[in-house]
Amino acid sequence: MNKKPYIFGPILSRRLGLSLGLDIVPYKTCSYDCVYCECGKTNNLSLDYFSYLNVDTVLKKLKEKLKTVSNLDYITFSGSGEPTLNKDFPYYVKTLKKEFNEYKIALLTNTSTINNREVYEASLLVDLYVPSMDAVLLKSFNKINRPHTLFNLEEVKTKLIEFSKEFKKLFYLEVFLAKNINDTEEDIKELANYIKKLKYTKVQINTIDRPGTEANIENIDIKTINLISYYLKNINYEYVSNINNNLNYKKISKNIKQELLNTIKIRAISFKDILNLYNIDEIKAKALLQCLIDDNKIIEVKHNNTLFYKIR
Ligand code: SF4
Repeated sequence: MNKKPYIFGPILSRRLGLSLGLDIVPYKTCSYDCVYCECGKTNNLSLDYFSYLNVDTVLKKLKEKLKTVSNLDYITFSGSGEPTLNKDFPYYVKTLKKEFNEYKIALLTNTSTINNREVYEASLLVDLYVPSMDAVLLKSFNKINRPHTLFNLEEVKTKLIEFSKEFKKLFYLEVFLAKNINDTEEDIKELANYIKKLKYTKVQINTIDRPGTEANIENIDIKTINLISYYLKNINYEYVSNINNNLNYKKISKNIKQELLNTIKIRAISFKDILNLYNIDEIKAKALLQCLIDDNKIIEVKHNNTLFYKIR
C-alpha cells in the first residue's frame, strides 16, 4: 500500500480547473471496485464510516498549504477512494464553509452514500457536486463498478433524483462508459431516461484515456457515440477530453519534484499533463521524471500509445 498525502496538488483537471485535493480516506478505501479506477484495485471494499484522520491536523495543514497557492478554483474532496466514507466528512465541509469561505468546494463522489442523512445534508453545502452514475441497469452497473454487496442501486438512484432537486449549485453528472461493459443500446437508452429525471447542470461522459485497474478495458466506439447522440440529444452532455492545453497557470510550488510525486501517487499522469500542470519545459520535465525513475519512485507505462507515469 502506498503511503499517500491527504492534501495533494494543486492539479489541473479536466473538470475543475485548478484544484487542491483533499483525500480523506486511506488508499483505495471505497464502496466500489471500478474496472477503470486510475488508482488501482480497491483493497478495502467498504460501506462503513470511520474517522480515518485527525480532522484538526488535516485542517491545519490545509491552512498552511493554502498560503502557498494562488488562482485556485476549488478545494476538492477526491483522491484514491470514496471521501464520504470518512465519518467526519460532514464536519470537514461545515468547517471549510465556515473558516475557508473564500474557497469554493467540490465533491467528487461515487454516490453510494447519498442515503446517509449526514452525507446528504453536507453534500448540499458544496459548490460543485460531481456524482458518478455509470449504469442504471444492475447487470451493467455490477460489471463496471463492482460495488460492495450491501450496495443498493435502486435506492441510490431514487435518492440522487431527490438530492438533485434540492441542490442549488453546480451538479455535473459523470458517466464512465467502456466498450462491451456498459455501452449497449439498452444501457444508453435507460441512462438517458434516468438523466431526464435529474436536475443537473451538465453530464460529462468519460471513457478510458489512462491506465485503469483492468488492463483490457477499451474505449467506446463509433456505434456507442451514435447511440449517445440519438438518446441524449435533448440532454446537456459533453465528452470529457484531456486537460485544456491552452490553460497556462503559474508555477505552483518551489518543490516541483515532490509535488509531481504527490500527484503521481494519486493517479497515473501523462507527459503532456505534466507540462500543462507545472508549466515547465520538456527538458526540465524529462529530467524530473528521470530523477524519480532513478530513485525507484515511479515507473513508465504505455497506454493507447501514450506514455504515463505511475507510482512504483
Ligand atoms: S473510480 Fe472512484 S468509485 Fe471507482 S473504485 Fe476508484 S475511487 Fe472508487
